[in-house]
Amino acid sequence: MEKQDETMDHELNRRGFLTATGAVAVGIGCGLPLVAALARDEVADKKDGPRWAMVVDMKKCEANADCKACIHACHTEHNVPEIESEKEEIKWVWKEPYKHAFLGQEQEHMRKGLKELPILVMCNHCENPPCVRVCPTQATFQREDGIVLMDMHRCIGCRYCIVACPYGSRSFNWKDPWPRDEDNQPVKRPPNQEFPTRMRGVVEKCNFCAERLARGEEPACVEASKTQKCNALTFGDLSDPDSEVRKILDEEISQRRRPELGTNPHVFYLV
Ligand code: SF4
Repeated sequence: MEKQDETMDHELNRRGFLTATGAVAVGIGCGLPLVAALARDEVADKKDGPRWAMVVDMKKCEANADCKACIHACHTEHNVPEIESEKEEIKWVWKEPYKHAFLGQEQEHMRKGLKELPILVMCNHCENPPCVRVCPTQATFQREDGIVLMDMHRCIGCRYCIVACPYGSRSFNWKDPWPRDEDNQPVKRPPNQEFPTRMRGVVEKCNFCAERLARGEEPACVEASKTQKCNALTFGDLSDPDSEVRKILDEEISQRRRPELGTNPHVFYLV
């Protein structure tokens, strides 16, 4: 029975791939305007239940701009390997200069120091995620609570999602992230034995700590920001008017990355 399920799964993937390939090939040639069109085209249904979101308060981050506690916490939690080569590195949460993070949103006169400030970035868990739309095998998908996830077992490494994501939020495992020696023993032990490691040839990205949410815990980066007492990160349910994220967003002026694309990011910035 299991074998039969596997065969059906494989066949579905293959058929899906054949159908989607044509559309995606056109998309890659057209570049970002198509990404915007795809995103707007797929307006997610409003569902009951939580819609998870993150607020990043860059003013709080600014006081300790070199701090990487939240990045370290995320990468330790999810066994993200440290790879020195910029082309091959795997990133779930990282920092980008303002002009890259908020491409086209730079103004001549801005708050002093803001243009130079490294901005904490991650997958935006977009309401209308173009990465999901282009995935030929449904390896990447959106849950009802808005979280965009990756199933590495379904990923065929086509990297269409990397092209489709306008935020560079996805990384590709060009090599085995946790290599083994001749005796098939790990050269270096992944830090978190509870979380699966990935393999060469698959895409990965931030998962809004779906596994921690399932245990009733906050994302690792948010917890780290509290431990560090910078409290720059707030996570919660956007559909709940009493949630901390909603209270902040109802009171403060926030901005999101590339709003013109219609992806509707669920990561908000106070700058
Ligand atoms: Fe997909 Fe990129 Fe949006 Fe994340 S930020 S949901 S990877 S399009």
